[in-house]
Amino acid sequence: MIIYISDIRPSIAAIIVARRAQLSVRISAAGVILAIFHLQTGLVPAIAWSVLYTSVQLLEYFIFRKIDETQTMTRRAERVFLALAMANSAAFTSFGLLLAASGNWGVMCAGIIWSGTISHATMNSGGSRHALQCAILPPILAFFALPEFILRDGGGIADCITVVAAGLLNGFGTVAMWNVYQNLLKSATNARELGRLAQYDSETGLPNRAALKQRIDGLASTPSGIVIVAAIGIDRFVHLRDAIGHAPMVELIAQLAKRLSRAFDDMPVMRLSSGHLGLAFVARDMAEAFHMAGTLQGAVTRPLQLRDTHVDVSVTIGLSEAADALQHAADLAILDRALIAVEQAREARRHIARFDAELYGNPGATLSLMSEMSRAFDNGQMTIAYQPKYDLRSGAIVGAEALARWNHPERGALRPDLFVEMAEETGHIGELTEWVLRRAVRDQHHLLAVGFNLSIAVNWSGHLLDDVGFTDTALQIARGAAGKLCLEVTETAIIGNAGLARQTLERLRAAGLTISIDDYGSGLSSMAYLKNIPADELKIDKAFVLNMATDPVDAVLVRAAVSLAHSLGLQVVAEGVEQQAALDLLGEMGCDQAQGYLIARPMPLQDLMAYLRDRRSTRQTPNYSG
Ligand code: C2E
Ligand code: CA
Ligand code: CA
Repeated sequence: MIIYISDIRPSIAAIIVARRAQLSVRISAAGVILAIFHLQTGLVPAIAWSVLYTSVQLLEYFIFRKIDETQTMTRRAERVFLALAMANSAAFTSFGLLLAASGNWGVMCAGIIWSGTISHATMNSGGSRHALQCAILPPILAFFALPEFILRDGGGIADCITVVAAGLLNGFGTVAMWNVYQNLLKSATNARELGRLAQYDSETGLPNRAALKQRIDGLASTPSGIVIVAAIGIDRFVHLRDAIGHAPMVELIAQLAKRLSRAFDDMPVMRLSSGHLGLAFVARDMAEAFHMAGTLQGAVTRPLQLRDTHVDVSVTIGLSEAADALQHAADLAILDRALIAVEQAREARRHIARFDAELYGNPGATLSLMSEMSRAFDNGQMTIAYQPKYDLRSGAIVGAEALARWNHPERGALRPDLFVEMAEETGHIGELTEWVLRRAVRDQHHLLAVGFNLSIAVNWSGHLLDDVGFTDTALQIARGAAGKLCLEVTETAIIGNAGLARQTLERLRAAGLTISIDDYGSGLSSMAYLKNIPADELKIDKAFVLNMATDPVDAVLVRAAVSLAHSLGLQVVAEGVEQQAALDLLGEMGCDQAQGYLIARPMPLQDLMAYLRDRRSTRQTPNYSG
């Protein structure tokens, strides 16, 4: 885009800067005028005039010395400048008037005519140096003819010198100012063009991150509602780009941006990174923000037209709000939080998500949280929730998984995956697992005392597999168990740690503990490792189970996992069973156990006992028997 000079209106600030640059010219001019003046009017009026004129110049300089051309001036400052400009003009006019009063009318008239023509010439030059030179030439020639008339009119040589010198000074002053002004205009144009380029993505021509930041700042002053940033991640971006090529991909992004923008009354859509677009808007609350994100998503349900083909595009949207309470703790800009939210949404297999600081982890808070954990074990903040494991053949609850729960007094219920990960990273996982194991063993005794013999499963972090000392402690605790204990270890932990992990698992197994491979299928690992792992149970990750009743691909994968596990002599547990149809399907596939919200949510020990009693008294028949 070309910016025309006329785009940039001469601002008062720019004029001030131009005038400041030639202050010395004006003051020296006043000195020269003083010298010529006293020939005509005598020394006192000449000095009085020079002092008056110079003071106006200095006053202007001091008042506006800090102004730069990019500044927007206040109305009051503008008025002060205009008043000074008037005083300047008056000072010059008074020069002519004084001369006229001393009997030299010609000087005044010449001054007026000269000023008029030279301003006219400057204005007509249209910003071109050559045009200015041409426009100024005729008045200069005419001007040099003046002495002839002065002399003919009875004036002396002094009058001629006064008129010509004053006129030239005036002329040079105007041209010098014009020059400075043109240069300023040029640099302002450059600055603006650079600024414009800095705000646009060079590939698509869409506004970029910097532009979005500016928009966020602009919206921040909106009195009602909250400022929301929506980062829009193009799903499978890299695959898509590889499939259709780079240039068509750029075109596709531009089209997508247009589509999204239209969904919201032409709201500006920016490009945040190669695979992310973004926009900022004001919403009443987060619920409305989600609704608006839904509208954006709806806008891309129709395929995009690319040259002569249609391309299906889906997006994942991450939201963040400016006034996020955890903003400072996490020390992330609103924009980055929105981008992280896209990843969080993808991880949770959701289409839209809001930035979750807790999930992201707050490095500053980790250490203090971990130092609080040891106390949480004793002061009742840390508890265990048990989630029943249901036997598909007998229809009985045969076990329960112990899941840690931390109810923090300030931060509320903390997500277990968050504090478990923190504990792993900071070396506190042994402490947590030991506490859970002791509790589980104690609770198993309580359960047995009221007539329920359950296998209790404890989650075993991969970090513990190469800790021989910890294994010793665990085995000692396990010896006091009232029934079966099961350790759930994630498949990734076992594979990433093959040597020692195997030995540890063998030791635990030899002592009578059951080993379950947790989150099976989530790690994209090869199946070959399965036959080398000393395990008893395979737990299919809930990601495949949640939608298996409606998604035929998931169903095929679950069926394959069940038969693979059975052929290796492993029991199979499906976790994340939320629908009756899924439970029926699992039964039909020959899966051994199921766990999920359909059967029961994780609950405190007392509730588990009540639940088990309730089932016993109503003599629940299995949902499936086969
Ligand atoms: P996990 O071992 O895969 O635990 C299963 C998670 O799925 C639990 O989340 C459970 O509440 C949830 N869940 C159970 N049934 C359903 C269902 O039908 N639908 C859905 N959508 N979810 C279901 P929770 O309790 O938030 O635990 C998250 C993770 O934290 C656990 O995943 C486990 O890896 C870890 N964790 C929890 N407690 C401990 C612990 O004591 N030690 C260790 N090392 N890790 C733990
Ligand atoms: Ca588990
Ligand atoms: Ca699991």
